[in-house]
Order: sequence, then structure tokens, then C-alpha cells
Amino acid sequence: MEAWVIVLIVLSVLGSIACFGLPIYYGNQKLSGQTGEKYVSRYLQKLGCGEVINNLILEHAEGKTRQLDHIAVSAKGLFVIETKDRSGIIYGEENWHEWVQVTKTNEYKFYNPIKQNSGQVRAIEYFLKNNGFPKVPVFGFVIFLNGEVFTKTKLAGTFVGFIKYFQCKDDILTPDVVDEIYKKLQAAKDNSTVSGKQHTKNVKTMLDKIENNICPRCNSNLVPRKGRYGEFYGCSKYPSCKFVKKQ
Ligand SMILES: [Zn+2]
Repeated sequence: MEAWVIVLIVLSVLGSIACFGLPIYYGNQKLSGQTGEKYVSRYLQKLGCGEVINNLILEHAEGKTRQLDHIAVSAKGLFVIETKDRSGIIYGEENWHEWVQVTKTNEYKFYNPIKQNSGQVRAIEYFLKNNGFPKVPVFGFVIFLNGEVFTKTKLAGTFVGFIKYFQCKDDILTPDVVDEIYKKLQAAKDNSTVSGKQHTKNVKTMLDKIENNICPRCNSNLVPRKGRYGEFYGCSKYPSCKFVKKQ
């Protein structure tokens, strides 16, 4: 059995929720964080979720850039999957602006991953529309690789929940369309690197991290602190890292 991980999958809207009334799935094992994204990617491939594109940066409607961890391009539609690597206990609800992570020693806030994922879904929809595929359904998921997630939203199953959700969807796209969408997304990814957008990409990734209260210099958490001029967010590794979040 593929008894790996996953603590939470959140389905964030769009398209019908046909098989599962509520979209959060809860798992039971731990994955080492660094390799988490690779596991997710490999696992999606194994599931037959179609072609998977990892770490794509897409321009968004309002000129914003979105970073997407995984996009599975399948005959059932597109699945946009955000992976979170946070240990400890996670509290959050769909409508909260920020979620809370509680570890043995501290408490951290980070941007609501469902809202983050919704933005990613919108970015993909925008991309599809601009490339002649306005009706292709896009489904969003958030996967927590570590930590226990508590939410009032009903919890069920494990990563199996995602598999079932995926399997219950009907094929609606022809192989040609799937192939074309995949190639266009892949081209978007390749071009964003080749055409000198690397810098923009790095900046945006950094902003995403800061938005999620992760230090862009050392990847530690940003924590609330009190200074001479009031409260601010700074790196939890201070004084070895002196990064401070600007208000
Ligand atoms: Zn730092």
C-alpha cells in the first residue's frame, strides 16, 4: 500500500463537488519536508492524473504573478495542487484570512491556503481562457504534508480521498485537448525562464513566502515581535537572520 502521507487535502471550489460533499481529507503519516513536493509529483503521476507540471509561475489577470506547486493535466480537467510543509497543529477555516500553526515552542500565522489555492485556480482559468479553452474545469486542492489539521470542516479519509475524488470524475477532454493544454502550460513554464523572467519569478516567489510568513532568506517562520516602534514580523532565527517583514 502506498502508505505515505498527507494530512489534509482541501478542495477549493470550482466545478461540482460530486463525490464528496465536503472537501477536506485527513491523513496520518509524516513525510520529510524537503522531499514532500517530489513525492506529491511522483504520486500524481502514478495515480494516472495525467501529465504533471511542477513549480509553474503564471501571470494573472491583474498583472499579478502566481506560483503553482503542481498542475495535473488530465482528461477529467485540471487539478491545481498546493503543498504545505508545516509541522505541529494547524487551525483554519475556509473564510479566515490567516491560518494558525502551533508548534511545541511557537505559534505562526500564514495566509489561508484555500484562498491562496483559489487564486492559483483563477490564474489557471485565466490562462486557459486566453489560450482558447474557456470551458475546461479546474479543481483546486491543498495538501498538508506534515502536521495535524483541525478545522470545523468535516474531515474524511486520507490521500485516498483525493484518489477517489479524482477517479469519480468523468473524462471530458479528448487526448488531443489534454496534450495541447499540457504543451501550452509547459511552454509557458519554459518561456518564463528563457525570456529572462527569472528575476520576476524569484521576486514573486519571495513575496509569496513573505505573504505566508516564511522568511525568504532562510525559510524559517516569520514571527510577531515588539520593537521600539510597535509590532512587526521578523525571522524566528534572529539574531542569525535579521529579515524583517515590511508593513
Ligand atoms: Zn530568516
